[in-house]
Amino acid sequence: MVGTSGNWSIEEAERIYGVSRWGGGYFHIGENGNIKITPNPSDPSVQIDFKAVIEEIHEEGVQLPVVVRFHDILRSQVANLNTHFRNTISEAEYQGEYHGVYPVKVNQMREVVEEVVDAGAPFNYGLEAGSKAELLTVLALNNNEDSLTVLNGYKDEEFMRLALLGRKLGRRMVVVVEKYSELLLLVRIAKELKIDPIIGVRAKMTVKGRGKWESSGGDRAKFGLSFAEIINTARYLKEHDMAHCFKLLHFHIGSQLTDIRSVKEAISEGGRIYAELHKMGFPLDYVDVGGGLGIDYDGTASTSESSRNYSMQEYVSDVVYGMKEMCDLEGVPHPNLVSESGRAITAHHSCVITEIMGEIKSNSAAIDTGPKDGEHYFVKNMREMISNFDQQTNMQELYNDASQYKEQALDAFKLSVLSLEELAKIETMYWEIMTRLQAYYAQAEYVPEELQELDFNLSSQYLCNFSVFQSAADTWAIDQLLPVVPISRLHERPEINCSLVDITCDSDGKIDQFSVGREITDVLPMHRLKANEPYYIGLFLTGAYQDVMGDMHNLFGRLNEVHIFSYDDDPQDFYIEEVVKGSSVEDVLSIMQYNPKAMAYDMKRLIDKQVSAGVIKPREGVRWTDFYEDCLSGYTYLKTAK
Ligand SMILES: *Cc1c(COP(=O)(O)O)cnc(C)c1O
Repeated sequence: MVGTSGNWSIEEAERIYGVSRWGGGYFHIGENGNIKITPNPSDPSVQIDFKAVIEEIHEEGVQLPVVVRFHDILRSQVANLNTHFRNTISEAEYQGEYHGVYPVKVNQMREVVEEVVDAGAPFNYGLEAGSKAELLTVLALNNNEDSLTVLNGYKDEEFMRLALLGRKLGRRMVVVVEKYSELLLLVRIAKELKIDPIIGVRAKMTVKGRGKWESSGGDRAKFGLSFAEIINTARYLKEHDMAHCFKLLHFHIGSQLTDIRSVKEAISEGGRIYAELHKMGFPLDYVDVGGGLGIDYDGTASTSESSRNYSMQEYVSDVVYGMKEMCDLEGVPHPNLVSESGRAITAHHSCVITEIMGEIKSNSAAIDTGPKDGEHYFVKNMREMISNFDQQTNMQELYNDASQYKEQALDAFKLSVLSLEELAKIETMYWEIMTRLQAYYAQAEYVPEELQELDFNLSSQYLCNFSVFQSAADTWAIDQLLPVVPISRLHERPEINCSLVDITCDSDGKIDQFSVGREITDVLPMHRLKANEPYYIGLFLTGAYQDVMGDMHNLFGRLNEVHIFSYDDDPQDFYIEEVVKGSSVEDVLSIMQYNPKAMAYDMKRLIDKQVSAGVIKPREGVRWTDFYEDCLSGYTYLKTAK
């Protein structure tokens, strides 16, 4: 994959890493081989060099790994989605308006939600909450009376009271009934408090999204009302004189919809339900099409699980024109449109920057394999295979024999027939043969199946200072692919293929799925490490879900964060607006019920005891005590020499 022939160029790097394909107009490879950011594609003169950002991060004394947040990208995406809807609505002469909401579960960080609310203010862009804690958050955060607040998820009495409090404050809080019993609860409490709620229902759709989240639709979906329950809801509200509160129809067929066909089908089905309700005498104001707008993580623009075969514009057009056609056909007015895109708003705006700490080679250590008197004939045989390598015509046979000798040698070792040194020689020669076979097959047109794994088995692993479980949970949990790219040196040809491992003590803590030149591979072309030069890599598109879903496996805590704003007057076109410190060891220990102060005290006593006994000198004792305390208050990740 990493060819050695031909000239290397930025175009070639672009072809391999696909930065412009998944970059959404925000990322590309600069002529100097560094990743560049265009935070606002409508103003391409503002360009940030990622290497300069990392240098500034160092100057601020912030330790890696870091989450880097580009607030301008977040703002651009909010404007993009709203503008696409507005323009398409006017072009289609659609009679309703767009009232989008941002679902906070996708990234609940205060700075993110505040930025989304601020950037969305000119569009009356609202928020969506799916739990009580999120409801408490959105109540306090968005007080624009012209924007919607959509409340999904399972609800209890407190939840309903909070929603009605929002109504008292003049807010457009829509309680979406997910389950029939919630309707009875809501009606009872609304009557008790004498507040008119805004009621929505979530339809359990028969159309299923295609992709990883397809179980969000269909008969076994966790959420939503069946057709019969929707009719019962309408009738129940009428009986209780609350038909005028029934305002919204909601559906959500899954996240990361890979195929545009499922969007079209959902709009048809949802549009039909809306039209029927209208004809039954329930003129709803809104149809909420949920989330699902996908991100092209692997840059293939296909229906592969980490991609999608449509653009944002195409999605918006299908929603607007699809609803218009259905309504015109049915002779009902066009409803206002609501969508709950989260992934599409936040994915691009943040990434994780970390440093490679070293290389783990599967076959690096070699010992002298020269002949020795009285050595076992296994060793001799292996050596002969190497000296006859070039005369060998059947490479498959050579592979089989070498593999068999290696296995037999291990058995012989266990039976005390072979010495450890002899075993080590056989191991060394085995890897030599494999390396030569790999070189042989690199030129071959046909590679036997068994030998196809050679590349992977012989590839190195780069050790990355981060935890997959904290920073890229979905790559572990659901095989989500995230783009990984070196931050600089992209004008140099990458010489080796590597997979990545993290610093947790968990063999699942690795990334071995990459998109390379539009193909999904288990290794990524990387550059060789240099002695005195750090090698930085970026894990991109982590702004949706990954930022907030991580856990503290191995007690690796949250990452340091830097918030970047673009600034045209600055020579580097950016400044660091804020640094948010990640978890210290103390922080994560406290969450696990430890008392770091007491631990430090206990350690001091143990050290003092050794001082009294004369094992440790008093000054040295003080140093050890301070050191322990420094580490407690320090970062949970590895410290790199600067
Ligand atoms: C998760 C979720 C969303 C967000 O979906 P994206 O695919 O991230 O846009 C929207 N609506 C509901 C009801 C959700 O559960």
